[in-house]
Amino acid sequence: MTDYIIAIDQGTTSTRAIVFDHSGSIVSQGQLEHEQIFPKAGWVEHNPKEIWDNTREVIGQALSKANITRHNVKAVGITNQRETTVVWDKNTGEPVYNAIVWQDTRTQEIVDRFAADGGVERFKDIVGLPLSTYFAGTKIVWILENVEGAREKAENGDLLFGTTDSWVTWNLTGGVDGGVHITDVTNASRTMFMDLETLEWRDDILEVFNVPKSMLPEIKSSSAVYGTVHTSSLLREVPVAGILGDQQAATFGQAAFDAGEAKNTYGTGNFLIFNTGTEIVKSKNGLLTTLGYKLGDDAPHYALEGSIAVTGSLIQWLRDNLGLIKSAPEVEDLAKTVDDNGGAYFVPAFSGLFAPYWRSDARGALVGLTRYVNKGHIARAALEATAFQTKEVLDAVNADSGVPLTELKVDGGMIGNNLLMQFQADILDVPVVRPVVAETTALGAAYAAGLAVGFWANLDELRANWQEDSRWTPEMDDAERDRLYRNWKKAVTKTFDWVD
Ligand code: ADP
Repeated sequence: MTDYIIAIDQGTTSTRAIVFDHSGSIVSQGQLEHEQIFPKAGWVEHNPKEIWDNTREVIGQALSKANITRHNVKAVGITNQRETTVVWDKNTGEPVYNAIVWQDTRTQEIVDRFAADGGVERFKDIVGLPLSTYFAGTKIVWILENVEGAREKAENGDLLFGTTDSWVTWNLTGGVDGGVHITDVTNASRTMFMDLETLEWRDDILEVFNVPKSMLPEIKSSSAVYGTVHTSSLLREVPVAGILGDQQAATFGQAAFDAGEAKNTYGTGNFLIFNTGTEIVKSKNGLLTTLGYKLGDDAPHYALEGSIAVTGSLIQWLRDNLGLIKSAPEVEDLAKTVDDNGGAYFVPAFSGLFAPYWRSDARGALVGLTRYVNKGHIARAALEATAFQTKEVLDAVNADSGVPLTELKVDGGMIGNNLLMQFQADILDVPVVRPVVAETTALGAAYAAGLAVGFWANLDELRANWQEDSRWTPEMDDAERDRLYRNWKKAVTKTFDWVD
């Protein structure tokens, strides 16, 4: 009987369950999208119950498509959209509010309040992050301050907080019937509350935020048996053995295990992660310091991260808000109707700008327009925005590390776009490389779980699974690259100071 690992990828737009075999190949998968709820400008929510229902269903889909049962599954790994905040009642299992999604900017006022005393970087040395609406901490505060009865229940010890890894794990292991309330170091490092050195919650920061410690999950390594799936599930008694935040999971799935290795994921947003090994590197160039992974009792690996809020979601916006295209891949056909951007630059600062600017006052701008510009140019400008933003982040990584990256491993939904990948190689002036198994996020979670139960023996075995699929080589001349990037930088300055 062949054995497998199943990974649950609880993403921003959908939840997937993917069955992997020992070679790291996909055997089957189930996938369901969930509703994106936009109650007000800048607000983004998900329904946690829908996410949990979808999780159960996609597990069923994946198992039945592979024609296997729980007996063939050696472990479950979980990866998740990071920072997205769920607060629920531990007695009923009911969320007290919708999940507040990582892109949501409603907590700006809370950020300003905490930043008034010491600036946005006041906790950066300890937690690796600036104060920003992006991270889970201020989202918890918003729920405690705005949901009726939440503060009181939290003080009574009745409420639990979790990112969606915790929410899924708690439900998977039994929910009100003994579910384990945990998270891993990578997710914990996105709250603002975890000390990068001790890997424990910081009482002094919790006090500033006025968040009761009883709400917080226990911080675990990224690869260990945390518990087993509850008897009510198709996967009953299978060990839950790995958790990694989605970007760290993709890095792990790309086998970027050592210092100096990196990957860039092109999804709703873009996230470049650069492994700094067991050393905590503090960025001087607008990057975050975050956990890379921690295997069992081994020393943790750290990383520098360049997070970009809007890349693929700009393509969704062209589709859903402007009706310019019917599906995301169509943007490539539209962009191909023209030879260049026609002078148009599109800076999608819809959630402010993340790395390397961290400007929450920024809002989107489409500049350089003339009567000549048509929808093809706008499609191209939207795709180019992803590549320019990535260059800004890569420049910061190179400056912080002092050792320029010589090629970029990529993954995520947008890398099916050939025009974008070629333009990316051109603008970076380094080759861009795609692996055969492009579902690196789920693969990374499977690897973490599989290592914990001995399904895979060690990192070398995983490294041997990585295989190159495609490579894009730079073709643009230096003068053209410089001209485009100079104009992009100018366009970025037009997005500042838009919030009163
Ligand atoms: P996530 O994991 O963040 O939910 P995915 O990795 O599944 O995202 O990627 C989906 C994103 O990629 C969407 O925002 C979509 O607009 C974008 N996308 C998908 N295919 C293409 C394409 N061919 N060209 C450009 N963008 C694309």
